Amino acid sequence: MVTGKTGIRKDRERAGRLVVVSNRVADPKRDRKAGGLAVAVGETLEATGGGWFGWSGEVTPDAHKLKPVIRLVDGIYIVTIDLTSEELDGYYFGFSNQCLWPLLHYRVDLVHFEQKYYDKYKIVNRRFASALAKFLGPNDIIWIHDLHLIPMAAELRQHRCKQPIGFFLHVPFPPPEVVATLPRHHDLFKDLMAYDLLGFQTQRDARCFRTYAMQELGAKRLEDGSLETADRRVQCDAFPAGIDVDSFAELSTNAEARKQIAFLRESIGKRALVVGVDRLDYSKGLTQRLTAYGEFLRRYPENRNKVVLMQVTPPSRETLESYARIRRELDRLEGAINGEFGEMNWTPVRYLRRAISRSRLAALYRASRVGLVTPLRDGMNLVAKEYVVAQDESDPGVLILSRFAGAAESMGRALIVNPYDVEQVAYALQMAIHMPLEERRERHQALLATIKKEDVHAWSRAFLTRLQEARPGFGGTLPLDRSNEPSRPARKKAPPKAS
Ligand code: UDP
Repeated sequence: MVTGKTGIRKDRERAGRLVVVSNRVADPKRDRKAGGLAVAVGETLEATGGGWFGWSGEVTPDAHKLKPVIRLVDGIYIVTIDLTSEELDGYYFGFSNQCLWPLLHYRVDLVHFEQKYYDKYKIVNRRFASALAKFLGPNDIIWIHDLHLIPMAAELRQHRCKQPIGFFLHVPFPPPEVVATLPRHHDLFKDLMAYDLLGFQTQRDARCFRTYAMQELGAKRLEDGSLETADRRVQCDAFPAGIDVDSFAELSTNAEARKQIAFLRESIGKRALVVGVDRLDYSKGLTQRLTAYGEFLRRYPENRNKVVLMQVTPPSRETLESYARIRRELDRLEGAINGEFGEMNWTPVRYLRRAISRSRLAALYRASRVGLVTPLRDGMNLVAKEYVVAQDESDPGVLILSRFAGAAESMGRALIVNPYDVEQVAYALQMAIHMPLEERRERHQALLATIKKEDVHAWSRAFLTRLQEARPGFGGTLPLDRSNEPSRPARKKAPPKAS
């Protein structure tokens, strides 16, 4: 086994390693069970002897500990770096969480910009890039993830990195008028032009970025859909993120799930279960959702004592006032609904303010007649996909889905709602609970087919294939299985431009 710098340097010469960069680095073994990026890139990382690079999750006052730590886990190099507490405050809590997160979720009112946050964000990206550049081989292919790391490619190019570098934005990209409200937005987003491929969750996001690049960065759109500025050309497209369908289906049908479902049934009786699963975040539309559920019980009284809403809401970013506010509002709404409609033997809303395991979640989805997924804005929303996959095909539940979740772009057979329209969501709940079996089956089949086609493996394969194609003639080639890739319309190829 090769470990440490010598090993990673020796392996640099290998053809076509994948190098993944994200704010937090997953544990390849443990997190592959939890789904997400670890599943998407795990196999390719293993097959190519590649690496995963990012923040260790640790804060250190010790300047010499700021050097990267390298571990070799299951044939994958895990390279992590600590942050100082000032860096964490500026780069992560300040710029990523208080500027970019609200801005990209269309919440201009919640953006709190400070120059010192942005300075630290740039410094951390620079430091990551200079550490990463030392470990890159000439044939590596680099995939950078999410809003924390927008400047990475521009910084890597400063270190003369000529390799293909792709970027995937997990959150939405709003229209240019929204983006342009951010101080220094030109300086920040022009760095996206240093990539070879930009991936967005939806066509809408990709369109918004193209328009922004043309209006604000002076980019030209070429015939093949790519964008060009004076010195760079970048491809830009939608790659909807998916889930690991087979493993989630297994989780929802195994013996443990059956036990959990029986336990749930015992506690709620014959009542129809409505499930909501969302991190505590203002983008998830939680207060609007509870208000709509109250409205549903008010308008359609025949459902009283016949329905239970189970809302699972793990806390996040609790130190921020914008988050503490929703928490207070949710507590108030839960109390108000249970107080107004509850009976001695019936609690209309059950609200769990903590995370539950994926296996309990899978059972909860399967036991639920309705999946209520109503974010005000969401990059994709994987809960919507998990809910559909967990259903019993012979007697499936109904998904109510916000038109503002990225998932809605390809899941039109859900009951699509405007989450701000409380009456409409109440009506959708009524429809979903009383929907005939035949219609439920037909909708479920259509949704499941799309989710299977766009699963997590298809997502990473499609992105990495396009990244390689963006730089024809490049030395490294990743071993990607393309046999069941959906065919794309042929594109007119523009000649590559040097980086
Ligand atoms: N999740 C979980 N336990 C919980 C709540 C959520 O494991 O108690 C998982 C859920 O299964 C899903 C993810 O967290 O895979 C949430 O992803 P999504 O895209 O819906 O929202 P995000 O939190 O990324 O905005």
